[in-house]
Amino acid sequence: MHKKKVLLVLLLVAIGSIFYYLYILKLEREQLESVSSTTSLIKTVFEAKVIPHLGALGRPARGNWTAKQLEAMAQSKRETGYNAWLSERISPERTLYDMRHRSCKKLNYPAKKLPPVSVVITYHNEQTSVLLRTLSSLKSRTPLLLLREIILVDDGSSSVDPKFNDILQIKFQDLVKHHRLEKQVGLMQARVTGAEFAQSDVLVFLDSHVEVTQGWLEPLLAPILENNKTCTTPIIDTIDYENLAYRRGKPSRGFFDWEFNYIQLPLLKEEMVAMPTPHQNPIMNGGLFAIGRQWFFELGGYDKGLKIWGAEQFELSLKLWLCGGRILEVPCSRIGHLYREGSFKVHYTDKAKSSEDKLISRNYRRVAEVWLEEYKDKLFANMPHLTVIQAGNLAEQRELKKRLQCKPFKWFLDNLAKDFLQIYPLKDPDDYAFGTLQSISSPNLCLDRTETKPSRPQLSTCSSDPTFPSKPEQQWVLSNRRELRSGFRCLEVRNKSMDVHVYQCHRQKGNQFWSLDTKTHQIVFGQMANARRCLEALTEENGLTMRDCDPNQPKQRWKFGYENNERMKHFWDNVNIV
Ligand code: UDP
Ligand code: MN
Repeated sequence: MHKKKVLLVLLLVAIGSIFYYLYILKLEREQLESVSSTTSLIKTVFEAKVIPHLGALGRPARGNWTAKQLEAMAQSKRETGYNAWLSERISPERTLYDMRHRSCKKLNYPAKKLPPVSVVITYHNEQTSVLLRTLSSLKSRTPLLLLREIILVDDGSSSVDPKFNDILQIKFQDLVKHHRLEKQVGLMQARVTGAEFAQSDVLVFLDSHVEVTQGWLEPLLAPILENNKTCTTPIIDTIDYENLAYRRGKPSRGFFDWEFNYIQLPLLKEEMVAMPTPHQNPIMNGGLFAIGRQWFFELGGYDKGLKIWGAEQFELSLKLWLCGGRILEVPCSRIGHLYREGSFKVHYTDKAKSSEDKLISRNYRRVAEVWLEEYKDKLFANMPHLTVIQAGNLAEQRELKKRLQCKPFKWFLDNLAKDFLQIYPLKDPDDYAFGTLQSISSPNLCLDRTETKPSRPQLSTCSSDPTFPSKPEQQWVLSNRRELRSGFRCLEVRNKSMDVHVYQCHRQKGNQFWSLDTKTHQIVFGQMANARRCLEALTEENGLTMRDCDPNQPKQRWKFGYENNERMKHFWDNVNIV
């Protein structure tokens, strides 16, 4: 009787086990099916287009494209400002060449001591292939011990791919936490929202179109560990918008000019010598940086009054320095950023373009009002439209400035950029000459900044008034910085070819340095004492060229509408001849 009971129990257990086993099998099969259907989803939807080895090691992605493919590329560039068609054909997991300075590879960081980070990425209408490459590069080139999470914030993109979340789940599991803001709030508020979700003590903010490289994170963390009010920035390399090549960027000492353009000051001599030791970065580029979470929020994150895009890097950088922190650029950390084609203007708002310009102006005004004190007048003199824009309520910002006992902007100039006022003085001395620049050998032809491709100036029929020509393209100045400037464009000579181009003025002399020889009427390039090159008219083709200076060559003779003879007497004062 007892034996029978035991047998029965055993039998029941056996039957139970079989059912349980079958049940598990079924579950596994279901899971497998769903995984393989989504894996094939990735394969069919995204990676089907990937061409093996294209763009590997960050090389330019080249191929024998058909006319139809070239047209598809051109179309994608018109829509996004970069070659999105090609991006879809490059593996999201492509390899990159290690471009770090030799000594960077030898540095050792104890992974255990460094804190894990939360990466915050916000995006608005980013191309999926670009976004996936950003995430994949993070996953494959960051020590997993140091990467707690990637917080991805969709800032109200206008269309949502229903499969995107499945793809994130398969490729990144719980590493990527995707939040969608139904209504676009702009990159500043979207970043703050992302930061509020973050669990780590250190935040890394990145744009949605970057690729990180080997060893990018550890050197960014070390200075923060030393001083928790430090914000660190990497060297920003360039991902080419045309062929997605990964190219080496230059170290940066960022600033802004008196029109709130982001500019680069030359590195200080001692900073150059000390490379790749971290150096001070007065104003960061804005898209890529690491910062302690607590310090970020003590600074109030970004000013909540800043909308959509623009000036946020000025605000955060000024706040950081003036309120007791610092920004260091760390040359051993390199991240590639996909810059859009220069002429492409991204629009982050649906409304008319003018309202977007107004938003950006409003941001500028807020930053100037709160942080520039008396220096804001210099900015407003160059940007009078800012003075008629309502900045909104600034009480909270002013209160923060007081509470954190932030220093005045003058401290910033005196301590971080003594050279700034020399290059961008508060009061510009008079120019040496201005008006049309007329060819003496063909007096009906004048220098014209209108660009023919690639960025070459030309000659055109002179305006009737040589001193104040009606055509803006013919308004030139031999500026007090000794450049030949028309509007924001300067005449420059490219190194090897010695071709003349028009390009954005960089105020650093070098290939934009010009002088006027008042005796021979020659326009002479550079600071050289010998082997001088002069601007020569190519009258047959309405073009310009550089030739060895020859005072007997009539095509090298030029005349400005107005020449300030008093100023010209002192042209060579304080100029180094090389
Ligand atoms: N961005 C955003 N919301 C916006 C505008 C921009 O989240 O309303 C994101 C954008 O997708 C990018 C980052 O903010 O990831 C920085 O913008 P962008 O790259 O255009 O700035 P840039 O690099 O041109 O200065
Ligand atoms: Mn960007």
